[in-house]
Amino acid sequence: MNYYSLNKQAPNTTFKNAVIKGLAPDKGLYFPETITPLPQSFWDNFDHLSYSEIAFEAIKQFVSPEIPEPVLKTIVEETLSFDFPVVTLSEKISTLELFHGPTMAFKDVGARFMARCLGYFNKENPHEVTVLVATSGDTGGAVANGFLGVKGVNVVILYPSGKVSDIQEKQLTTLGQNIKALEVQGTFDDCQAMVKTAFLDETLTSNMQLTSANSINVARWLPQLFYFMFAYKQLHKKHQNIVFSVPSGNFGNICAGMMAQQLGLPITHFVASNNDNNVVTRYLISQLYQPRPSVQTISNAMDVGAPSNFIRIQEIYKNQFETLKENLSSYSFSDEETKTALKELYTEYNYVADPHGAVGYLGCKAFLKENPEAHCVFLETAHPTKFLDVVEEVIKEKQSLPEQIQSVMGKDKVAVEISTYEDLKAFLLN
Ligand SMILES: *Cc1c(COP(=O)(O)O)cnc(C)c1O
Repeated sequence: MNYYSLNKQAPNTTFKNAVIKGLAPDKGLYFPETITPLPQSFWDNFDHLSYSEIAFEAIKQFVSPEIPEPVLKTIVEETLSFDFPVVTLSEKISTLELFHGPTMAFKDVGARFMARCLGYFNKENPHEVTVLVATSGDTGGAVANGFLGVKGVNVVILYPSGKVSDIQEKQLTTLGQNIKALEVQGTFDDCQAMVKTAFLDETLTSNMQLTSANSINVARWLPQLFYFMFAYKQLHKKHQNIVFSVPSGNFGNICAGMMAQQLGLPITHFVASNNDNNVVTRYLISQLYQPRPSVQTISNAMDVGAPSNFIRIQEIYKNQFETLKENLSSYSFSDEETKTALKELYTEYNYVADPHGAVGYLGCKAFLKENPEAHCVFLETAHPTKFLDVVEEVIKEKQSLPEQIQSVMGKDKVAVEISTYEDLKAFLLN
């Protein structure tokens, strides 16, 4: 598959190049040249396919021929070596738990897939690749874990000091080996801006091969379409009119769900559930797209003021506002509402959610009010104990830490403090 830049000022390129480069030379995000719906035979057989088989068929067109089929099969199987259970809370609401991977956030899927693709491409490459990534919380840990020990790949993670949870910080600062953490005096937007500047800095790019592992990278973004299919597989015999409510920050996850829809997954609608960082909620009301500086919330992985994947969503719906609106609703919720939702989930359904999942749950409730015929699935994007302070404060019950999290808590943080782009540049050139 070839990819074009959404800025339309750069040549089209292969999957391999799109993965290694991250962003196109004209700063645009890459987008696949074609999206071919999966054949009827795939859907006829859907209930009998394993998750790996579904994922393999779904992603094949986007990565071939550069990744040969037997290699792709292995990559998919290794990526998906944990569970994706749907928990049904009521006749109207279910949750898709995406936190059963090694760092207990949905980003494990994209990070593990991308690490394996890059590892494969890099086998023949004599030069090292540096993965540069900004994190608002969970990306860092998932990328660190996914890329740990991958030969020929160095990983540099930028995170905003004091704005990620303790557990998230441990997950990205304690691995060592080829993983380096930079603690930035600033916000996530500052981290993201530094990363963008680095990609455009010729002194850097002529010295090293930089790539990104944020959802702008096609190999991080596209595999996220898998689990929408897995949820559908678990639910479609019992429920019609399946709608997904996706707690959204950079809008990579929801955009991947829309790709699953383009491949033929019969999803009727998407709900983008936001915290107070609500550019898209406001856009759907006013038709004015106005990025703003991010504000800090208790669902910090969604504290994004300028969602980088929204442009891909617009491309999917051919920049037609009305078509977009038919497929997408968006609501935004305050921290207070989120805490109330956490409490409600616990008291009414005995379900312990994390703050991001709670925002997704609120999105379901808001959507169902206007569309009572739907069955709404909210994505539980992280394990509740990754946000221990908030969760324990609200539900007033001690949570026991799962093994994945216990294992990092005792380790020592290693991070380099930086505050300016010049600091980052000096670090990379060193
Ligand atoms: C990254 C993240 C999100 C937001 O996902 P996007 O793809 O950036 O929209 C939501 N919840 C959690 C827990 C996350 O880590």
